[in-house]
Amino acid sequence: MTVTADGPLPSTPYDVAVVGAGVVGCAVARELARHPRLRIALVEAQDDVGQGTSKANTAILHTGFDATRGTLEARLVREGYQRLSAYAAETGIPVERVGALLVAWDEEQLAALPGLAAKAGRNGCHDTVLLGPGELYAREPHLGPGALGALHVPGESILCPWTTTLAYATQAVRAGTDLHLDTPVRAVERTADGHRLTTGRGILHARHLVNAAGLHADTLDRALGHEDFTVTPRRGQLLVYDKLARPLVRHILLPVPTALGKGVLVAPTVYGNVLLGPTAEDLHDRRATETTADGLAALRDQGRRILPALLDEEVTAVYAGLRAATEHEDYRITAHPGQAYVTVGGIRSTGLTASLAIAAHVTGLLAGTGLDPGPVRELEPVAMPNLGEAFPRPHQRPDLIAADPEYGTLVCHCERVSRGEIRDALAGPVPPRTLEGLRRRTRARAGRCQGFYCGAAVRDLFERGRSAAEPKGDRA
Ligand SMILES: Cc1cc2nc3c(=O)[nH]c(=O)nc-3n(C[C@H](O)[C@H](O)[C@H](O)COP(=O)(O)OP(=O)(O)OC[C@H]3O[C@@H](n4cnc5c(N)ncnc54)[C@H](O)[C@@H]3O)c2cc1C
Repeated sequence: MTVTADGPLPSTPYDVAVVGAGVVGCAVARELARHPRLRIALVEAQDDVGQGTSKANTAILHTGFDATRGTLEARLVREGYQRLSAYAAETGIPVERVGALLVAWDEEQLAALPGLAAKAGRNGCHDTVLLGPGELYAREPHLGPGALGALHVPGESILCPWTTTLAYATQAVRAGTDLHLDTPVRAVERTADGHRLTTGRGILHARHLVNAAGLHADTLDRALGHEDFTVTPRRGQLLVYDKLARPLVRHILLPVPTALGKGVLVAPTVYGNVLLGPTAEDLHDRRATETTADGLAALRDQGRRILPALLDEEVTAVYAGLRAATEHEDYRITAHPGQAYVTVGGIRSTGLTASLAIAAHVTGLLAGTGLDPGPVRELEPVAMPNLGEAFPRPHQRPDLIAADPEYGTLVCHCERVSRGEIRDALAGPVPPRTLEGLRRRTRARAGRCQGFYCGAAVRDLFERGRSAAEPKGDRA
C-alpha cells in the first residue's frame, strides 16, 4: 500500500501505468487492481487525486436520458449510472435521487418535451413523465413565473464527486496500486518491452500504458504519434448558494437542451447547498479555472428567471471547471495494440457518471493490446466517510460519539466537522497533502464562513496530523 510524492520511483517495470489520477484514472486503476497478478502505477502530476476537472463539476449522476444514441458515451453513461449507483450504496458515497425537471419556458420548448420523453425511452429511461404547469408548480413552488410544463426524469441524482474519486483511489491503493503524486509525465518513449516515462521524479517503466490525462490527453497521445483529437477546454463557472437556500428547490431544474448545449441548471448538492451554472465557454488556456464577473453575472440573469428567490440568498463560493471537449461528439477511447497503449480522451461532461463503465471498457481494451490480467478477485470493501446532509453525519450519531468522543467535538461549525473526522482523513490510505485536500475529504472550511472562524484550528490539526505521519515518510 504505497502513496509517494517525492524520492526516486521504483526501477522495476510496472505491468500498467495509468497517467492521470482524476475520477477516470482512479476508476481504471481500481478496476485493474482487481487482478492481483498486475503491478500498477497511478501517476499524477498534482499533489492529490481528483485535482483536475474531477474536483469542479455539477456532481450529477446522469441517467443518460438525453444521450445521443449509438455513441460510446451513451452506452458508458447508461452503464456507469447503474454501476456507480450500486457502488455508492456499498461504499457510502452520498447519492440523492432527487430527479430532474426539464422546464419548458415557451411554446417551442413545450412542443419539444414529448420528443425528449421518446428519446429518453430509447435510451432506456422509461419512467419519465410529462407534467402540466399545475403539477410542475406543485412540485416546485418557487419556480419563476411563466413555465408551461416539464419533463420529469426521476432517476437523475446528485452525488459527492470528491468521495467518489477518493473511494476508487483508496481501494486501488489498498489492493497494491502504487500512487505516485507530484509526478508529471513529461515525455514517453517506446522501448523493446513497453514504455519509458520521463517524469518530474525520474524514469518509470511500464509494459502497458493508459492515458487518462484529461485536459492533456491529446498532448500525451501526440507524443505517441496520434493526431486523433485536440482538447478545447470548455469552461463551466458555477455559483454555490448557502444552505439556507436549499428549501427553495427539490429537483435538478434543467432547461430544454438546444443545439448550443445543455444550458444552465439549478440543482441541490448533497452537502445541502444549491448550485447555479455552469457556463459553457470555449477557451484555449487549459489552466483558466478562474471565474469572471461577466460569467457570474450571466448566470445570475438566467437564475433570476428559473428561481427568482435564489438571487436573494447568500453565495458561499464560486468555482469553475474545464470540460475536456474535442472536435468530436463522443469520447475518444482507443486501443493501440501495436503500442500496448490505450487512450482515454475527450471525457467531456459525463465522466463522473461513466467512470466505472469506462474503467471496465478500458480493461477490456488493454487485454486486446496483449495484457494478460490473470485471475480476478473481489476487492476489500471500503466504507467512505459520509459528507452528505441526507444521511447521518458523525456528530449526529450518539453511538459513534460514545465510542469515541472526538466525533462529538466540532471544529468546523458551519459544516459540523468533528476532530475525529479530520483525524481519520489525515490517517487514511490516501491522506490529504494540503488544506484543500482536507476540505474535499471532510468539508472542513467549506461552509458559510469559508474558514474565517475555524481556519486556524483546522490548520493546526492538519499540521500536527501531517507531522505525526512524517517519520513514516509518505508511505500510507
Ligand atoms: C462544469 C462541469 C460540469 C460537469 N458536470 C458533470 C456532471 O454533473 N456529471 C458528470 O458525470 N460529469 C460532469 N462533468 C464531467 C466530469 O467532471 C469529467 O468528465 C471528469 O471529471 C473527467 O475526469 P478525468 O479523470 O478524465 O479528468 P481529470 O479529473 O482532469 O483528471 C486528469 C488528471 O490527469 C493529470 N495529468 C494531466 N496530464 C498529466 C501528465 N502529463 N502527467 C501526470 N498527470 C497528468 C491531471 O493533473 C489530472 O489530475 C462536468 C465537468 C465540468 C467541467
